[in-house]
Amino acid sequence: MSRVKSILIIAIFLIIAFGPSHILNGINTSAATNNKVVIINFDDGRKTQFTYAKPILDKYGFKATFYIVCNYVDNKKGFMTWDEIETLNKEGHDIGSHSMNHVHLSNLSKMNIEYEVGDSKKCLDNHGIKATSFAYPFNDGSEDKKVFNIVSKYYDLARIGNNPIAYLHCNALKDPSIERDCTSYTNTHYLTHANTFTISGWSHDFSRMVNSYSEEGQFERFVDVVNSQDKYNYDGSINAIPIIVYHRIGESDATGYNTEVKLFKKEMKYLDDNGFTVLTMADLAYDVKSHYTYLKHFNEQAITGKVAGFGENTSSPVVTFSGN
Ligand SMILES: [Zn+2]
Repeated sequence: MSRVKSILIIAIFLIIAFGPSHILNGINTSAATNNKVVIINFDDGRKTQFTYAKPILDKYGFKATFYIVCNYVDNKKGFMTWDEIETLNKEGHDIGSHSMNHVHLSNLSKMNIEYEVGDSKKCLDNHGIKATSFAYPFNDGSEDKKVFNIVSKYYDLARIGNNPIAYLHCNALKDPSIERDCTSYTNTHYLTHANTFTISGWSHDFSRMVNSYSEEGQFERFVDVVNSQDKYNYDGSINAIPIIVYHRIGESDATGYNTEVKLFKKEMKYLDDNGFTVLTMADLAYDVKSHYTYLKHFNEQAITGKVAGFGENTSSPVVTFSGN
């Protein structure tokens, strides 16, 4: 066999053996070996998310979920336009609903909840956007059956706050009740506390405000939070994911819910340098057999995944999230 031929055969073998297996629908599955995943969310549709955060995400090829308030778009100063949101959608970012008007849902009549929750999905759909998840404005309504039933009618999953990590099997709660999976209702028709419509995000900006961290202190906290998954994710199974929620980026006049561009850059660089796989909420799904939430690209774990231990928590206490 000629040398050229054997090099060619070896090259083909290498491509077959290692090429496609590492790229699955554009997602680098090397996380299966280093077990580090993170989901990035942006709430409210602030314009600075597009002008300052997007170029940094682009630099690393990261995709995020943007939760949009429909009636703010093209209407309110400081918020994105439909052109910008459609651009994000076309470029592979995930767009979710954050209601029509960003109001407290538990105060509303059924009809108005339908409008805020259901019509906001239609509103996005009118712009070619298929929203599969919802984020409750002011973190309000997920414990109200009336709100919950409407949210779960329109979306596959929903996000609340404020926990450093989301447990995919919903089994880490000790208080107020121990739950073993992500079922929404108990046998006695009570809403469960941990389910697919109460997936917890960690508000980076809220944490910063309540703890009065310096920029350096906030970066250290970020590093702790994104690494808090280490004890749950191993041997290629992902059981817990930090979902980092940002609001304003580089709005120096903002009093709260803001992250400096420099800090955001440093955080994204950290994720890239340390081999994190950055995913969106659209990568999460619910398995009707196991009643677990799982990552679509690692779906075998819905059956074989190891269960994160009860009562184990990250170093940070749960702070009730009142915000934004
Ligand atoms: Zn909000």
